Amino acid sequence: MLRIIGGGLAGSEAAWQAASTGVPVTLFEMRPLRPTAVHKTDRLAELVCSNSFRGDKLDNAVGLLKEEMRRLGSLIMRAAEASRVPAGAALAVDRERFAQAITDALSAHPLITVVREEVTAIPESGERAPVIVATGPLTSDALSADIAQLVGGKHLYFYDAISPIVLAETIDRSKVFRASRWNRSLRSSFDPSTLREPQGRPEQGREATGSGSSRATPRDDTLGTSEPARGELVEPRAPACGVDDGEGDYLNCPLTRDEYERFYDALVTAESATVHDFDKERFFEGCLPIEVMAHRGRDTLRFGPMKPVGLTDPRTGREPYAAVQLRQDTLAGDHFSLVGFQTQIKWGEQARVLRLIPGLEQAEFVRFGMVHRNTYVNGPRVLAETWQVRARPSVFFAGQMSGVEGYVESAASGLIAGLNAAALIRGEPLSSPPRTTAIGALAYYVSHADPAHYEPSNITFGIMEPLTRAPRSKMARKLALSERALAELQTWLHGRASQSVSQVSGA
Ligand SMILES: Cc1cc2nc3c(=O)[nH]c(=O)nc-3n(C[C@H](O)[C@H](O)[C@H](O)COP(=O)(O)OP(=O)(O)OC[C@H]3O[C@@H](n4cnc5c(N)ncnc54)[C@H](O)[C@@H]3O)c2cc1C
Repeated sequence: MLRIIGGGLAGSEAAWQAASTGVPVTLFEMRPLRPTAVHKTDRLAELVCSNSFRGDKLDNAVGLLKEEMRRLGSLIMRAAEASRVPAGAALAVDRERFAQAITDALSAHPLITVVREEVTAIPESGERAPVIVATGPLTSDALSADIAQLVGGKHLYFYDAISPIVLAETIDRSKVFRASRWNRSLRSSFDPSTLREPQGRPEQGREATGSGSSRATPRDDTLGTSEPARGELVEPRAPACGVDDGEGDYLNCPLTRDEYERFYDALVTAESATVHDFDKERFFEGCLPIEVMAHRGRDTLRFGPMKPVGLTDPRTGREPYAAVQLRQDTLAGDHFSLVGFQTQIKWGEQARVLRLIPGLEQAEFVRFGMVHRNTYVNGPRVLAETWQVRARPSVFFAGQMSGVEGYVESAASGLIAGLNAAALIRGEPLSSPPRTTAIGALAYYVSHADPAHYEPSNITFGIMEPLTRAPRSKMARKLALSERALAELQTWLHGRASQSVSQVSGA
């Protein structure tokens, strides 16, 4: 029997995968008996911040990861499809429907028992009774202390921050406009099965035009590949937490230069709820609070979450000086989140500052932004590529705790940990897909990155094995990486299936 601690994104996927191979699973979830600082419900796989699973195309590493998960029978992907809301080229969900679908599927599975209980220490384990620890960034204190003992006191803390959500009916629609960046939307003709790209989309990283400003124009640098202009700005290197790689059907709040300056001045002088020294603390670069980014330079936000690139204000026919994007957060469209606006400003101050954004003057906030703790182990010191703890192979770590970053990445790690824990019980060989796949590249990163400078990672093409003969164009390169990944995943799947068959016939 497999025991899984934590019914979040990783634990839920792991339970589904293991049970799908016929292994009985007990899934321990401490909510609602013991809440966390950010979860609001007792549902399994609750999304605690953004409702987005980010890009959903094969020219995007997280799009590839999702496609691989679909092919591996992911429950998280199936529930996400079933609760999808419009978000352009991204996959965003109605968070309540999503979590309910997962909760229903796991509760109804005959091989899965959900136990509502806080686990305070990693239980005894063995080859026929392994344990998966998937307790996430907000692992309870008692279990954290026990994990610290197991991994040699080397588990680390840093801080993340979440974005505010506004009530849709309080947004002034006469000031905002609905548009995807570059008019890019899932409604375009992209067909993942043929790896074709829709017509007319400019390459990422190109210079924007027509901002009407004498200052440098923010570039679209969602891949974080180009260098900032000298002395001018420092922008996040990783795709920001909750930012959909610059794609989606958003409500856009355009700002003129004067409006931007006023907003900027209010932001950098607003009072913070808690004082964290972000230069000293370990803070995920892609999730920096807006006020921290703002303190790095007057234009930093215009190159980050407020970049106007690819957006045309229909009232002026021009790109605005800056823009704030609002993404639909519920299927009914009654809540919108401020994309990339994670913050730790005091709530009263947040309302005052954010109401300076055109269209949000009368906004009612359903949830304010806040800062939270994040807990993870130093993967390369602790884990093997199979997500097993090297020093105790009957224990697996999955999800954010294992040192990946993001909903999709957490679920992906749970998927492979669940399959491997089930294989251990059945006495079959354990493996991970090759590093040429997105899901295998995550496993490789977590177990092989430099432990001295280890940071949780989103999936990027950069952590996948490079192509031996790479096309010159960036887009063609990404699509070639995806094509190879999907072919090699298929080969891995065939290999696994035949191993199980020979194991059964040899038994
Ligand atoms: C505030 C916040 C905002 C975030 N924003 C984003 C975002 O916008 N986009 C994104 O992609 N990622 C975001 N993340 C990261 C996100 O948490 C992870 O991507 C994902 O939820 C991690 O999945 P997980 O399964 O590892 O953990 P979770 O989904 O957190 O699941 C862990 C589960 O374990 C349970 N648990 C904890 N301790 C115990 C115990 N001792 N016994 C039993 N159960 C226990 C918890 O109650 C929880 O249900 C955010 C994280 C936080 C905390």
